[in-house]
Amino acid sequence: MYIPVRIFTKNVKGKTIPAIQCPNCGHSADYDLLKQVSGATVMFIPIFRMISDGFAVCQSCGTTFPIGDKGYKQLAKARNVTTQDLFACINAAIDKQKQAEQAQSEILRQAEQAQSQKQLNIVKAGFSDKKQTVAVLLALFLKPFGAHHFYLGQMRLGLLCLGIFVGSMIAALMALLLVTIFVLEVFIIWGIVDAFRIGFGKYRDSDGKYVVSDKQRYSILLHTMPTAHQTQDD
Ligand SMILES: [Zn+2]
Repeated sequence: MYIPVRIFTKNVKGKTIPAIQCPNCGHSADYDLLKQVSGATVMFIPIFRMISDGFAVCQSCGTTFPIGDKGYKQLAKARNVTTQDLFACINAAIDKQKQAEQAQSEILRQAEQAQSQKQLNIVKAGFSDKKQTVAVLLALFLKPFGAHHFYLGQMRLGLLCLGIFVGSMIAALMALLLVTIFVLEVFIIWGIVDAFRIGFGKYRDSDGKYVVSDKQRYSILLHTMPTAHQTQDD
């Protein structure tokens, strides 16, 4: 069944504040308050509706000043709005916007740092000299024989795969075909998962070194090189 869900944002004109000197055009002008209303409807029935932002528009020059949702509610309630009231709301909204931008860039900076730390750890662990493409193909097609494990020096894991595979073949001989099929299915999924991990450069060989492509190695080395903005911080 299709349930129409709609999320909307619209501007609704509120009251008009008379005669305030505009910092932009200098005229003593009327200001229209605008509220931005966001909400959602499910099957055309509103389930929530809220003021998400507010603005004051100079009717002389058309400049739109942000006042925020708080500012809108405050000014909409007030009987007499003075120039100071309006400007205080504008300043508060601009401050809030600046704080949000700062928080955003701080989050981005931290994410970048975490990312380069991760890549630095890969560089410290080292790169495997084994070919990524070979390992991916072996994992995809010869997982039951433990082929990519042997290729990457993981003898125990390789023998484990081989042992389980031989066991499942014996089960087939004993007419336990369901067991054999189940084991082979597990191998298929396990092989695909390994292939993806190897392909994305998340897989380590028996020395703990990462199996990467030339492109991945280049990109990781490029991102862990000291850059201009890192040296600026020091
Ligand atoms: Zn104006």
